[in-house]
Amino acid sequence: MVEQNVMEKIVSLAKRRGFVYQGSEIYGGLAGTYDYAPLGVALKNNLKNIWWRRFVLDREDMYGFDAAILMNAKVWESSGHVGGFADPVVECSKCRARFRADHLDNEELCPTCGGALGSVQEFNMMFETKVGASSVEDNQAISYLRPETAQGMFVNFKNILDTFHPKLPFGLAQIGKAFRNEIAPRDFLFRTREFEQMEIEYFVRPNDWEVAFQELRAEILAYLSDIGLKTRSLHELEVPEGERAHYSKRTIDVEFDYPFGQKELCGLAYRTDYDLQAHQTGSQVDLTFFDEGSKERFLPHVIEPSLGVDRLVLAVLCDAYTEDEMGGESRAYFKFSRAVAPVKAAVFPLLKNKPELVAKARAVYEELKKVVPQIMWDDNGNIGKRYRRQDEIGTPSCITIDFDTLSDNTVTIRDRDTGSQSRVAIDSLPALIAG
Ligand code: ATP
Repeated sequence: MVEQNVMEKIVSLAKRRGFVYQGSEIYGGLAGTYDYAPLGVALKNNLKNIWWRRFVLDREDMYGFDAAILMNAKVWESSGHVGGFADPVVECSKCRARFRADHLDNEELCPTCGGALGSVQEFNMMFETKVGASSVEDNQAISYLRPETAQGMFVNFKNILDTFHPKLPFGLAQIGKAFRNEIAPRDFLFRTREFEQMEIEYFVRPNDWEVAFQELRAEILAYLSDIGLKTRSLHELEVPEGERAHYSKRTIDVEFDYPFGQKELCGLAYRTDYDLQAHQTGSQVDLTFFDEGSKERFLPHVIEPSLGVDRLVLAVLCDAYTEDEMGGESRAYFKFSRAVAPVKAAVFPLLKNKPELVAKARAVYEELKKVVPQIMWDDNGNIGKRYRRQDEIGTPSCITIDFDTLSDNTVTIRDRDTGSQSRVAIDSLPALIAG
């Protein structure tokens, strides 16, 4: 019950301070959808940019990608999603509520009304749609909103070989939306029907898969530490054979201690040549790689790190949520690391009604914003209130311009976590506040 309470507080703070709103709220919402408000977008973009930097920009063996969400339906037939991307569902004969069978403690009784549950059916989670002005019966026009970003990269494998002539190992990396018609969306951003993924398909020689697997495993953990998640909240889990996806020969999930339990944050899977093989067969296009050195032709194997951005945003919100006391007052706030904080610093004039102070503070703000764009201006209410507002949204530093600034170009910088204040030169601010 206590944990549930924490989750409610996080959801409510995230809404009240403009991180995340319920999707379509004024119409009563749409289950499994959320809208990111300005601070949520900023937080999410920071997480994505740090990922892109580590996995694409800082490496020479990675190619960025951005495939279309809609693809030829044959992609999903070949990949196995049309036939098998299903979860088991049961329906209550009394109240008609539907549940995911594998999430129930008792598969016979409805957890809501106690009615008898029907037999388990397979429910395909892909959202089906029609492309073009087609008639209802026209099967040719069926398409799906992609349930994962991965396939957009597999079907472009040959294009990448032809345009970039990469050597093995190399990877394709993509950040994009994915859609799953989850039977029971729940736990805020954890299980939604529309979400974002950051995925890499890393192509290797078949014998080299273990080395690449270990390297990417370490990189994922390094990334999670970059964004400030505490090591003690993360747990690696070797997924046993019976529970792995059919294409995977080895999977390690990283689980996070969410307030509602230890749950999957991301996964690392060895997908063998399953996907390239399936698309080669389905498209009848040769997808083999020709190795100039050994003069061999073969289908590379794949290691796939897959991370849900929204689950990550939620992990960061939960990890950062802090309640403590400062100056005899209790506060609840997001203790974000500087790297992910949506606002790195706030700039205040000490008094709002002194034009010379406001002008100086504006000048400091505008110069600083050129170097560190994620800063905020605030001249509303007294300084104490401004500190509290910035603490709530996790701003690590507050900078106050006062009368001394006018003569000596120094400002007061105040630390969110300790409340301590120090006097520093304006010139030193960029280095102090950059993430
Ligand atoms: P679960 O077992 O929790 O349904 P999964 O094993 O089916 O997840 P994958 O297919 O491995 O998930 O997807 C890769 C990643 O995408 C997951 O680790 C997760 O971060 C994210 N993800 C998957 N489904 C959802 C969802 N419905 N909402 C938000 N993120 C999701």
